[in-house]
This record gives sequence, C-alpha cells and structure tokens, in this order.
Amino acid sequence: MLCAPAAAWAFFKPVRVVAPELTGVSCVDNILCIDDLSRSQEAADLYGEAVQFVGASVGSIENKPRVIFCSSEACFQSFGLGKRSAATIGTLGIVISPRAWKPYYVRHEMIHHLQNEKLGSISLWLKPDWFVEGMAYSLSEDPRSTLSEPFQQYRAQFMHWYGQVGKDRLWKEAGKL
Ligand SMILES: [Zn+2]
Repeated sequence: MLCAPAAAWAFFKPVRVVAPELTGVSCVDNILCIDDLSRSQEAADLYGEAVQFVGASVGSIENKPRVIFCSSEACFQSFGLGKRSAATIGTLGIVISPRAWKPYYVRHEMIHHLQNEKLGSISLWLKPDWFVEGMAYSLSEDPRSTLSEPFQQYRAQFMHWYGQVGKDRLWKEAGKL
C-alpha cells in the first residue's frame, strides 16, 4: 500500500522537474537547471529577460519558477512531455526544449507560471483554453503573425476580451471565466 503513491509519481514523468538531477540535468542554483553547462549564460539571460518582461507587461511573479533548459531532445523527452516545445508543470517548474530557447517561448511559459500563481493550478485547469493559451501567445508578444489552429483563434479571442477588460482588471475578470 505504501508503495502505490511512489509508483504513481514515477509514472508521471513531468514531476521529475522536482528532482531534475535524477535525469542527468545540473542545477546551477535553485531556479536554473541545464543539461549543457556551457550554455548557462544564455539560459540565465533568457530567464532574466522573461521575468523582467512578464513582470512589467503582465504582472509580478511572486516566486520565481525553476526552469530546466534542455539543449538536447533526450533531456526534454526524459520529462515525458511529448511533442510540445516547452511545458509549465503547475508552479513546480518549467521545461524548455531545444526548440524553445527564444525570448518569446520562455516568456510564454513564464506567463503560464504566473497564471498558476494568480489563479491556482486547479482553477487554471478549469479555465477556457482560449484564455490560458491565448493570453500566453498574446502577452508574450509571440512574433508569429499566424499560429497553427486552434491557437490563432485562441489568441484572437483573448485579445478581444483583453481589449475590453484591460490590464488592471485582468486577474479579477479572469477569476470569473
Ligand atoms: Zn502555452
């Protein structure tokens, strides 16, 4: 009986963000982990830019998240995240794939972290996808003029909603969705 929760955890690979060292990733400090230490400065710069950008344009982050920067696909796949480019696991941490070492990708995930902080992970899970993803694509200033569907539609729907709500009432109105 006592073994059951541990076994369940082991099968859900994303929780490895809690102990990334187990997958061969090195943690530079509490918040920055990386599989290729020669790229530590590049990762730290992307991290710092995203915190500053999101803090200024969306809202301030209370607890800075752990971010794992994977420069190899094997590193990213060890977290069991499939074909996506990056992922935010509640407030536990963010994993960045080799394809996502770009400012707007790191900001996008940092916005998901902030959504988790502001709304709570369970509540966020129940929010409409157009809000959760549309906000991340829109407010990260993703430069792609056309996104693959449904994200193009989500972004348009969020921008319409945000245009009416405004920055000051963002989280209050998000709570009602
Ligand atoms: Zn997203």
